[in-house]
Parts: sequence; C-alpha cells; structure tokens
Amino acid sequence: MAQRPTNWAGNLTFHVEHVHRPASLDELRELVTRSHRLRVLGTGHSFSAIADTTGNLVSLAGLPQSIAMDPDGTSVTVAGAVRYGELSEYLHRHGRALHNLGSLPHISVAGSCATATHGSGVGNGGLATAVTSMTVMSADGTVRTFHAGEDVFAGVVVGLGTVGVVLDLTLTTEPTYNVEQYVYEDLPRSELDDHFDAIMSAAYSVSLFTQWQDPLIRQVWVKHRPDRHGVWQGGETWHRARLADGPRHPLPGISPVSCTEQLGVAGPWQERLPHFRLDFTPSNGEEVQSEFFVPREHGLAAVQALHEVSSGFSHLVQATEIRTVAADTHWMSPYYQRDVVAVHFTWVKDQTRVLAALPLVEKTLAPYRAVPHWGKLTTMPADEVRAGFPRIGDFRELARTLDPQGMFRNDFVDRVVCTV
Ligand SMILES: Cc1cc2nc3c(=O)[nH]c(=O)nc-3n(C[C@H](O)[C@H](O)[C@H](O)COP(=O)(O)OP(=O)(O)OC[C@H]3O[C@@H](n4cnc5c(N)ncnc54)[C@H](O)[C@@H]3O)c2cc1C
Repeated sequence: MAQRPTNWAGNLTFHVEHVHRPASLDELRELVTRSHRLRVLGTGHSFSAIADTTGNLVSLAGLPQSIAMDPDGTSVTVAGAVRYGELSEYLHRHGRALHNLGSLPHISVAGSCATATHGSGVGNGGLATAVTSMTVMSADGTVRTFHAGEDVFAGVVVGLGTVGVVLDLTLTTEPTYNVEQYVYEDLPRSELDDHFDAIMSAAYSVSLFTQWQDPLIRQVWVKHRPDRHGVWQGGETWHRARLADGPRHPLPGISPVSCTEQLGVAGPWQERLPHFRLDFTPSNGEEVQSEFFVPREHGLAAVQALHEVSSGFSHLVQATEIRTVAADTHWMSPYYQRDVVAVHFTWVKDQTRVLAALPLVEKTLAPYRAVPHWGKLTTMPADEVRAGFPRIGDFRELARTLDPQGMFRNDFVDRVVCTV
C-alpha cells in the first residue's frame, strides 16, 4: 500500500491516502462540490495538524502559478500556491518588494497568510498585513473576492484554512530595496537585560538566537535597511557583542552555505530578509518547532523567566529565536492589536519528548498572556488558546456564515476554534 503523505517535517502523517492536484479551476470546483470535507495543503511546512483532514486534501500547485503586477504597479496578484521565493524574485525583477519575509522563502503565500506567518522587526507586521484582497472558492464552488475595508476582511485573511479555497491574493508592494545582514556573537546577558528594546529596535529586522546556555544570546542577526536608516553604526563591537568573522548558521554545527549572505554585503531584500536560501533545505530539516507570542512589553521578562527554568527543556533545543512582530488587525492573528515578542523553538526531532517538555515552557509563559503559532506544536489547552484571541467569536460566526456545512473545518479547527 502506498505510504500516506506527510508534512515537510515528517512529524505528521495526514489522514488521507493521497493529495489531489487539480489542473484547472473546473477540476478544482468539481472536487470541492463533491467533497464532504476538504482542506487545502500549501507547501506543508506547518508542524501542527492545521492542514490535516479526514476528507480530501488538495494542493493547488497544479493550477496556473500566476503572478501579475497590477496596472498601477503598487500591488501584485499572486496564485495562492506560489511560494514567497518565486514571488520575491518576480517582484525584484519588476523593481518592487514586500515589506518582510519569514525565515524561509519555501512557503506558499496562501498557507503562510492563513497561519499569520511573520518575520521580524518592531515596525513590521506579519506577512498577512500586505494582503489587500483575496479571492476564495466556497463549498458550493462559487468564487468571491474579499477586499480590504470590508467588515469581514479582517476575519478572512488569517483564515486558518477554514474560509474556503484561497485562489489568489493581492499584496501591496513597495519599491525594491537593499538590506545588509550582520551577525554578532555572544551578546552579554547584562546588555540584553539593560537594552532589550534598543537591541530589538536597532535595525529593520533583528533576531536573537540562544541555546539557553551561557552566553545567553549566542547570535544576533541584524538586517539593516540603508535606505531607511543610513549607515549601520554597529561596527566590530556592538552592545559588547562581536561581529562574526565569517558567515554563520543559526543552528550550531551546521554549514552556513544554506544561509543568506551576511558580513554586511548589501543585496536585494529577498536575498537577505529570509535566513535561508530557496535552493537549500531551510533550518536543519531534522526538527520540530514551537513558537509563542507575548506582548512586547513583557518580552524581556518572558525570556528571563524561561531562562530560569531552561534546564527543564534546553537539552531538546537546537536553537531558540527571539523576534518582534508589529500589531495588526486580523482577528485570528496572534498580533491582533498588540506588538509582540515571538519566542520560537527549533526542537530536536523527538516529538514525544518535546510534547512532554512543552507544558513547562507554556506554564512559564502563561503569566505573560502567551499565545501559540497556529502552524507549530503546542500542548496549551484549547480554552487557554481561545482566551488569547478576543475576536474568536466573530471568526466562528464568519466561518459558519461562509461555510455553513463546515466543509473546510477539520479536527484541529473543531477542537481549538469552533467548539460548538
Ligand atoms: C523551517 C521552517 C521555518 C519556518 N519559519 C517561520 C517563520 O520564520 N515565521 C513563521 O511565522 N513561521 C515559520 N514557519 C512556519 C510556516 O511559515 C507556517 O507553518 C506556514 O503556514 C507554512 O506555509 P505552508 O504553505 O507550508 O502552509 P501549510 O502548512 O501547507 O498550511 C497551513 C494552513 O494554510 C491552509 N492553506 C494553505 N493553502 C491554502 C489555500 N490556498 N487556501 C486555503 N487554505 C490554505 C492549510 O489548510 C493550513 O490550514 C516555519 C516552518 C518551517 C518548516
């Protein structure tokens, strides 16, 4: 018997025998209208069961992968399955750019927006904040476009895969720009304690990496935009951290060949904002991930609290990345009306032990009103997750209106979001 499909990490085997791959809109409509339950799979980079279904799982990668600049040149309309890597190259060729990217360019635009995927930067919203309209196929096969400004728009974009099949999205763009990437090593703990906000705000995008050992912050990845902030003032020593003398990988012991260019060499935004290059395996490939978001004002305290108890989980950590995301207005976004600090864990690929360690992390973060990433592993009870999303009732109503039979729902959504 053929093996059932898995997600990218291989920690999840989907409940289906195979993934449907329609080659046209008509084929897709035929599949949608005859399905009892259906879920779209993007590039499968989520670690949680958010993309799983007991019905039909469908990839849109066989549909035309269209990317088109809109006539006024300030936005681009892209098919849902297109990956950020291809979109970014297209935009750069046309002299345009997005405001930010996640750590990897391998993920689909629709799948990333559905889970509120983010990069870093105190002024940068998640990737979904670039969306200005979205075209969706409903369970009855009809197609509808939602536009920014409509009441429900803030509900559909971070849609967790439950609002229908996202056929295409229009994203706002800006003129292309250069980024310089610097990696600093061994940031002293006292600098972090005294200057956390200044460090996180020092450049367009800043990421801290730790293994929860001394020195606490092993690497600081600084992505500097000279067109916005002039000459990078960091120098060889910055906040008593040393400029790395060669390229680095954020995980210890891994060749930096898969990482985007560093050492301050200016280059196009799409070749610096992600940590990992499109033509290589991102991160380690042998891992599972979790991530939690706390209000930015609690970010340092949350990191300090985790450090206190880190002996209970650090042996499972390949790297923790600490980033910032600016507030947005999407109902199911973890950054809904709050600037956050994101605390991410690249764990060893041992899900049983990771799931056993997660409650300690979650209990430690609970006083800081942490919520989890939709696409990553958590053991937080569903009612605690729900409590972190003030518009979840509106989202539930919207999902019921758009999809009265619950065709696009799955066990994950039923358990965490749509309990009744
Ligand atoms: C190595 C690695 C690094 C990562 N780095 C980051 C990071 O920097 N920042 C971050 O926030 N996350 C990060 N993630 C998580 C990742 O960005 C999210 O899980 C994202 O959702 C993956 O996109 P995808 O295309 O693989 O979506 P999938 O995992 O395939 O699907 C996610 C959800 O979107 C839905 N969906 C997908 N396409 C459609 C569509 N066309 N219509 C309707 N619903 C759809 C699915 O049903 C599912 O509910 C990382 C993951 C990995 C493996």
